[in-house]
Amino acid sequence: MDSRLEKIYEESLRRNPTQPEFQQAVCEVIESVEPLLLARKDYADASILARIIEPERQLMFRVAWQDDNNEVRVNRGYRVQFNSALGPYKGGLRFHPSVTLSVIKFLGFEQIFKNALTNQGIGGGKGGSDFDPHGKSDNEVMRFCQAFMMELSRHIGADCDVPAGDIGVGGREIGYLYGQYKRLTNRNEAGVLTGKGLGWGGSLARTEATGYGLVAFAQAMLAEKSDSFDGKTVLVSGSGNVAIYAIERAIKLGAKPVSISDSSGAVYDPDGIDVALLKQVKEVERGRVSDYAERRPNAQFRKNEKVWSIPGDIALPCATQNEVDADDVRTMYHNGVKLIAEGANMPLTPGAIEIAQQSGILYAPGKAANAGGVATSALEMQQNAMLQRWDFDTVANKLDQIMLDIHHTCLETAAEIGKPGDYMVGANVAGFKKVADAMLDQGII
Ligand code: GLU
Repeated sequence: MDSRLEKIYEESLRRNPTQPEFQQAVCEVIESVEPLLLARKDYADASILARIIEPERQLMFRVAWQDDNNEVRVNRGYRVQFNSALGPYKGGLRFHPSVTLSVIKFLGFEQIFKNALTNQGIGGGKGGSDFDPHGKSDNEVMRFCQAFMMELSRHIGADCDVPAGDIGVGGREIGYLYGQYKRLTNRNEAGVLTGKGLGWGGSLARTEATGYGLVAFAQAMLAEKSDSFDGKTVLVSGSGNVAIYAIERAIKLGAKPVSISDSSGAVYDPDGIDVALLKQVKEVERGRVSDYAERRPNAQFRKNEKVWSIPGDIALPCATQNEVDADDVRTMYHNGVKLIAEGANMPLTPGAIEIAQQSGILYAPGKAANAGGVATSALEMQQNAMLQRWDFDTVANKLDQIMLDIHHTCLETAAEIGKPGDYMVGANVAGFKKVADAMLDQGII
């Protein structure tokens, strides 16, 4: 790393001493955009790098709520409003026990560049809590969401900051959050949250968008190599919204997804994942992947194992950050995996990315490949602002076009910067440039 950039990175390390996930995300971006930063004196003069890695605003708050036994519980809430150069802060809320300020900051930082790549005029932010919705009753989830929104409502708004879902936050949670926001503000401000229910301002195809967009992106990568999903065996990790709809679309394209996972282990279903059963178990029963395996004749549940030792052609990590390490990629390579596209945010460790690139596996970073979710959130905001409701195909076709455009931008930018075919550098440089240019226009703030 150039010594001037290293100084800025070191200052960030000093300022954020216990934020490994955030530092990992920052380091990846700096390394990718180094040639751009060294070429652009105007970026250096305006301290773009030092400013872009420092959030505009970071909120942390107490969330006190009562469980079903009337016991008072305390969680911590977060909202990091990272960058508003391109539009209102936009990004999901994650409810998971692993949530820390470091996790929210890494997600918010990634979101800046992802949102820039969508070209939809949205800034970057992220929020959440260490609250664990698993094992909680609907009423407990409702009371938590209401308590969380009690504070969050002061900081968000359709033209200011627009949260949505992420891990642990789906349609149920967005419903409770929206209800409480409406009660507190006495306004039906549809554009304040995305991922809403279809009957009250939500967009068709938003639920499917991240998984569908991921497969559309991977399909474009394969098409570059005159290849397709047809007949391919696909490894998918995770079993949430992203995984389910990636599986659904991959099946439509003639592929056979054979795995899912959750924090308890992996499922290998050699007959191909039955997506209707998966939806029943996950979306209706809120069950675990072992419940899915029990109802499939040849499926195996592998306790505490990952899916990456299963032979396959394409890998779509759709669970969480750092779920794929260097050894996993080595195993995948020996088993014949030719393409890895990230459905989760930062699922590959830096070592895993290095091995993937060295061994010639096609690799797409989440900020490009999983941008379909937030892009469709922007389409939901547009419909809300216009008081319109588009049909499924209208939204899905716009989503596909956005994914193709991002794919094109990544390849074009990678070639321009002298790294042809490098989707990671292409995504980071294209996203960074867009945000940096807007920051230059808007002065020293
Ligand atoms: N949580 C999703 C992401 O990581 C979606 C965010 C949104 O729709 O605002 O991009």
